[in-house]
Amino acid sequence: MPMPAMINRYITDLPVEAYARQAARQPGQPNWLLTNPALAQALGVPTTTLEGKTNAEQWAQGRLPVETQPVALAYAGHQFGMPVPQLGDGRALILGQLAHDDGDWRDLQLKGSGPTVFSRRGDGLAALGPVLREYLVSEAMHALGIPTTRALAALGTGESIAREFGPEPGAILVRVARSHLRFGSFEYFAHRGDQQGLKTLADVAIHWHFPALQNRPAPQRYRELLIALVDQTAALISEWMRVGFIHGVLNTDNMSIAGETLDFGPCALMDVFRSDQVYSAVDRAGRYAYDQQPAIGHWNLTRLAECFLPLLDDDPTQAIDAAEAIVDDYPNRFRQHYEWALLRKFGLYTNDANHRQIGMEIAEHWLSLLQKQQCDFTNSFRLLGAQSPGEPAQAEQLLQWFNQDPALSDWLETYTQALNAAAITEPQRQAQMIAANPIYIPRNHQVELAIDAARQGDLGPAKQLNRVLTHPYTAQEGVDHLAQPPNPQQIVTTTFCGT
Ligand code: AMP
Ligand code: MG
Repeated sequence: MPMPAMINRYITDLPVEAYARQAARQPGQPNWLLTNPALAQALGVPTTTLEGKTNAEQWAQGRLPVETQPVALAYAGHQFGMPVPQLGDGRALILGQLAHDDGDWRDLQLKGSGPTVFSRRGDGLAALGPVLREYLVSEAMHALGIPTTRALAALGTGESIAREFGPEPGAILVRVARSHLRFGSFEYFAHRGDQQGLKTLADVAIHWHFPALQNRPAPQRYRELLIALVDQTAALISEWMRVGFIHGVLNTDNMSIAGETLDFGPCALMDVFRSDQVYSAVDRAGRYAYDQQPAIGHWNLTRLAECFLPLLDDDPTQAIDAAEAIVDDYPNRFRQHYEWALLRKFGLYTNDANHRQIGMEIAEHWLSLLQKQQCDFTNSFRLLGAQSPGEPAQAEQLLQWFNQDPALSDWLETYTQALNAAAITEPQRQAQMIAANPIYIPRNHQVELAIDAARQGDLGPAKQLNRVLTHPYTAQEGVDHLAQPPNPQQIVTTTFCGT
């Protein structure tokens, strides 16, 4: 089976200012670390091209069996609240798009492929640790049912690269995404005062990601695009909250127009529940803490809406009114998505808004108990789902788990009453909970252990973790350790971008 032809729709659809054509560098001795045959198959990439030394050399350089036209994208962004007029792909190249068997296109991107015109002071390279973290966590997020960019392969470059804490093995991630358009792509054209560019970009975003809006007249279609982006962002962040995911660097240049989790840098999933948990070494003020993510989504959408102003109305005052009305709806949208995400974790989701309101109070109370007793976020929900509420055995087990906190008994009573009041049966509760509460998440210490082993040349732990995380809701034989929280010596307190 030959590899299907690729297109590059950044070149065909976007103004030339939006990208720079660029070839990948030739790395030292590329070798395969991890490959994703299932994703390859969905993209029509023959799995035989993801093996062997010669193929590794070709992929690492973006020389695929088919013709490619690699580009580095230009974008801007707000980094930790500060506007940066020009960022861009400083260490990544988009090779083009392949058709996915779901009918949509996917970008193929090399991350760590060498310097570009956007590299600023960076070396254009990526280290093994961050590449494997992105591979493992993005694939885990996908299996958890959360929109995300994906990983087709991770390659070692056979070279050593300079990093903050010393030399690191170099690596390249072959990333797959619905697109790499970001909030920051709009900011780039807005900074340049290029209204025609903004309009083209908005139409491209519609064409690629919201085709149902294509035939609407302007400016209505741009308003609807912004509405769709508000909703999509609220939905995505709600899903992150469901599994305890902390992105870590929610700058506007890391916010996808395609609604995918993008750029995994110092990301982490929580073990013990702490609402203001931060892992990223660079997030000293906790701007991107777990519980700040919903509000940051709102803030980032406001920056995006500012770029949209010239598209929304010819009259600047009307444009501001329109933008405000759309962005002001974010808290409502978030609430709706978050109710769906959080209440299913308790089996408490119903169509009745009053019952949902009560459910949310119960849910928030539970979270405060988790925090007080320093309970593991993921495993607490599995325990809650394991037995019927009201059963003495369940109460006993949970009490023990919550360090005999008497508040837990009261909580259980309220929980049981709420289930009864909403007429949610035990099978219904179970069905919701099983689908919303994973058994396996990419726990930070396991990711670190897998990376450490890979540094020593052993990819076994990374492969096992990846395999188990492909079915995060299904109990699997012989891998109990992957469902366990870290022991005290294994706790990861800080994560690094490694850039
Ligand atoms: P990130 O934190 O990965 O989202 O990257 C933020 C910006 O820094 C983007 O413009 C990246 O392309 C750029 N960047 C990150 N690491 C490097 C590197 N090693 N070399 C060049 N540019 C980089
Ligand atoms: Mg980024």
